[in-house]
Formats: sequence, structure tokens, C-alpha cells
Amino acid sequence: MSSLIEHTAKILAKATRAVALTGAGISVESGIPPFRGKGGLWEKIDPMRYAHIDAFMDDPETVWNVLIKDMKHVLDRARPNPGHTGLAELEEMGILTSIITQNVDGLHQMAGTRDVIEFHGNFAWQRCLACNQSIETAKVDLGQMPPRCGCGGILRPNCIFFGELIPHRELTRSQQLSAACDVMLVIGTSATVQPAASMPVIAKQNGAVIIEINPEPTPLTAHISDLPLMGGAGSIMPRLVASVRRHLADR
Ligand code: NAD
Ligand code: ZN
Repeated sequence: MSSLIEHTAKILAKATRAVALTGAGISVESGIPPFRGKGGLWEKIDPMRYAHIDAFMDDPETVWNVLIKDMKHVLDRARPNPGHTGLAELEEMGILTSIITQNVDGLHQMAGTRDVIEFHGNFAWQRCLACNQSIETAKVDLGQMPPRCGCGGILRPNCIFFGELIPHRELTRSQQLSAACDVMLVIGTSATVQPAASMPVIAKQNGAVIIEINPEPTPLTAHISDLPLMGGAGSIMPRLVASVRRHLADR
């Protein structure tokens, strides 16, 4: 593994417009469970029953009680881990330009990354189904279910449910960045949710080197990833970034 990390760092040190695509896996070591895979939320609940927009519109109280309330408790306490801070350092070094994230936890911004495209929106805000006003999730009163806006309307998270469209601006910008990057770091995503999963394919078709960090193989690992680093983001990223620093210092 260490020679693979060294080799990957050498390539990364030469990059000037690298982009990262991140998924729930990068936040696992911050205590946020992913959806799929071992320990994932889907082992406990049926996604189509609770994370689909139709389920929310039919019965917001149940979706708040089963899914959103727990998410709020977990996300309120979560802090960035070395996976997030490593990406912020790569941006600071002028290697990484942007992060496209499927996560809604805000941990990349908390770690200091400036350009974060939130592909699935974010959980930091709720909006009212009646008057569209936004309210910080931290200020939402969980005493009544479902929580309501001052106008009496029901609140929903500012992230997208299954069955909803990716915001147009975020999708277009992600496609442009993927086509233009020289390296793409794919970290902690099962690469099964479209259209996010197509970004590494776009990057590769346009000549980018694909680095993948994940403890498990994904549909990308065999044919799309050039450099699969099998392991947790929290342990691989600091080693990779330290090695990139050494390569930059040697120049
Ligand atoms: P996913 O749940 O489908 O897959 C998680 C991936 O992370 C798996 O491939 C797993 O092997 C990998 N992984 C597990 N531990 C890891 C670690 N320590 N380091 C690196 N990788 C690790 O995640 P997804 O592909 O992002 O799709 C699920 C969707 O659910 C997302 O689009 C997102 O909107 C939402 N979600 C967000 C959060 C969050 O904001 N933190 C959490 C759960 C789900
Ligand atoms: Zn309202």
C-alpha cells in the first residue's frame, strides 16, 4: 500500500485542477452512518418507504420521526475527520479546485474547503412547504411533529429526497468540472446513485486520472479507477497528503 500511495501522491502533486467526488463514506469516521453497506441505515429501514418524496408528502410526521429527527441528532454532533481536512489541505496547496459532494452534512465546509458543490442539497436548512421561508435546522423545535414554520406550514430539509431532481446549476457545474479536471479523487461513494456516479466516467473520458479511496470495491474499481486505494478515507488521506507535501518540497 505505501508504494501505491507514494505513486498516487506523485501524480497528485503535479495536478492543478483536481476535483473530488465524495459520498457518505467520507463521513463514516465522523460518526455518520452511510446508507448502503455494512452498518448502513438501509439495513434498518426501507429507503423507498421513508426517503422518497412521495413518502414524505403522504406522511411527513412518520418520515420526521423515523429518519429526519435521528439525522438531526447525528449531524448536530458530527465534526470533520482527517478525510475532510486532507481535501481542504489539497485545495490550499493549489492542487484541488472543487469538491462535488453527495453529502448533506456540511463537513467539507466545516473543514475549510471553499468550493463545495452540494449535489443533493444540505441539511443545515429547512424550508416551509407553505411559504418557502428557510429556517436553520439547529433552530427547529422538535417538540412538535412534524416541525412547523411560524406560518403553520410543515418544514422539510433542504436536501433532495429520492424521486426529486438534482438542482440544475449544481448538475451542470459538476459535469463541467468533471470534464475539465486532470485528476478525480472518488472518495467514499458506492457509485450507484445517478447522476453522481457518472462524473468519474466523464472525467476519465476526458483524460483524467481516477483515484478511488474506499475500503470496499465499487462498480468503478475494476475498469474506471486507475489508482484504487482500498481503505478508510480517515487513514489514507493524511498519508496521501503528507506524501504530496514531500513531493512538492523536493521540487
Ligand atoms: P453510500 O451509502 O451508497 O455508500 C457509502 C460508501 O462509502 C460505500 O461504498 C462504502 O464502502 C464506503 N465507505 C465506508 N466507510 C468508509 C470510509 N471510512 N472511508 C471511505 N469510504 C468508506 O453513499 P453514497 O454513494 O454517498 O450514496 C448515498 C446517498 O445518501 C448520498 O447521495 C447522500 O445524499 C446520502 N447520505 C448522506 C450522508 C451524509 O451527508 N453524511 C450520509 C448518508 C447518506
Ligand atoms: Zn411558512
